[in-house]
Amino acid sequence: MTTSEAPDSPELPPPALEEVSEGVFAYIQLDGSWGLNNTGFIVGRESLITIDTCFTERRSRAFRDAIRSVSGLPVRTLVNTHHHGDHTHGNFVFRDEALIVAHELCRKELIEAGVGTKALFPGVDWGEIELAPPTMTFENWMALYSDERRVELIYVGPAHTTNDILVWLPQRRVVFTGDIIFNRGTPFALMGSVAGWLEALERLRSLGAERIVPGHGAVCGSEVIDDVAAYLRFVRDVASEGYECGLSPLDAARKTDLGPFAELLDPERLVGNLHRAYSELRGEPRGATLPLPQAVADMVAYNDGQMPRCLA
Ligand SMILES: [Zn+2]
Repeated sequence: MTTSEAPDSPELPPPALEEVSEGVFAYIQLDGSWGLNNTGFIVGRESLITIDTCFTERRSRAFRDAIRSVSGLPVRTLVNTHHHGDHTHGNFVFRDEALIVAHELCRKELIEAGVGTKALFPGVDWGEIELAPPTMTFENWMALYSDERRVELIYVGPAHTTNDILVWLPQRRVVFTGDIIFNRGTPFALMGSVAGWLEALERLRSLGAERIVPGHGAVCGSEVIDDVAAYLRFVRDVASEGYECGLSPLDAARKTDLGPFAELLDPERLVGNLHRAYSELRGEPRGATLPLPQAVADMVAYNDGQMPRCLA
């Protein structure tokens, strides 16, 4: 593993480049909390495929520099695993050279959300972010090729969002999961579906990946699938009980002992997750739009009035 020199919060290790299979790199931004996502790239003989970008202009340019430290070949394709700003804000850094590929709903949600996430994290040094939505979209599945390597894009939403895809390299048994996997971070289902996410995990499991590059946290193996599933089942159970007792999502969260999940980063996501689980208990469709300001206000209240911590 090598490290790049992006200036960072003194609390954090610098972003790290890890070759997870020959010519396949993960770019890991620990600790993986709010806004600190992972990206990656695949080096071909004539061009590169990149997977996701970063939350701020500075972090996205540092990612591009890390790519350049490995290869000077052009990035012809950029894949977005989903629309969230920490995975897409830096798209514009690659816009001149790359086709930007994502699920059809990723393009739609990205255009609708704009750079709205910025308001949630007022302390962040954003730089000049220009929205650059996907320029090629698909519905269920598509394949890209990097020389002889097939790169499958598999839609598994609604799960973390309405538009999640897995980026699967079957010959290498490597998968970039986007935020379908948080390694040591609290999963966040507010904009997707708890039930759908559990199904997405089974789809992921069926691939038989040996190495997983999660959306947040260190590179891992398939054992982490069980950890995410256990948390989501916990959310479902807390929601069923709270819903039956007539508790609000915030009150249900406050009454809940997180147990082993207390050590995950960003525990306040429980409240957002309960908002989503309640929606499913009311019989609303997976991924239905929920009022974001209420869920965010509840997460802040759960956090004793503090906005979620973001070190990006
Ligand atoms: Zn996300």
